Amino acid sequence: MIDKNKIEAGVRLLLEGIGEDVNREGLKETPTRIARMYEEIFAGMEETPKVHLSKTFQVKNNEMVLEKDIVFYSMCEHHFMPFYGKAHVAYIPDGKVVGLSKLARTVEVFAKRPQLQEQMTEQIARALMEDLGAKGAMVVIEAEHMCMTMRGVKKPGSKTVTVVTKGQFQDNEKLQNSFYQMLKL
Ligand code: ZN
Repeated sequence: MIDKNKIEAGVRLLLEGIGEDVNREGLKETPTRIARMYEEIFAGMEETPKVHLSKTFQVKNNEMVLEKDIVFYSMCEHHFMPFYGKAHVAYIPDGKVVGLSKLARTVEVFAKRPQLQEQMTEQIARALMEDLGAKGAMVVIEAEHMCMTMRGVKKPGSKTVTVVTKGQFQDNEKLQNSFYQMLKL
């Protein structure tokens, strides 16, 4: 369970740490506001993708399914700053598929946790293999990291791209190419 009291106490300390007056008008409600917001943006802490990926239906066609441009917002676990962008999620069914909205749900479960882009890419692909029982999975994520752009290490708008392939997608250039072709459609 998310403990809002602990979050509030933490935010108060953080504000004091940077030399702020926690009792001044504009900041008085800030710890409470952040605690409420964290409940929403870290909702994935209390969820598992299995719930979404276990509602399957039978298919005869085992061709690739791709859901692209899934917009997500997450928090970098190294700096606690947002990173956000798009996830492209594909899998090869093994006789069963899930509703397309469930792929977006799966991305959301992992995005709404303290995260690293590389780790999130891997977790989504693994969930498709393990929880859905896919024969192959490929996930590409492109995102902008505030911890990079705001601190001026990189120029705003620069993107980090991560790729994970599993099962039939692994070392299969032909299948990977058709994934990229479908992204361009
Ligand atoms: Zn970071």
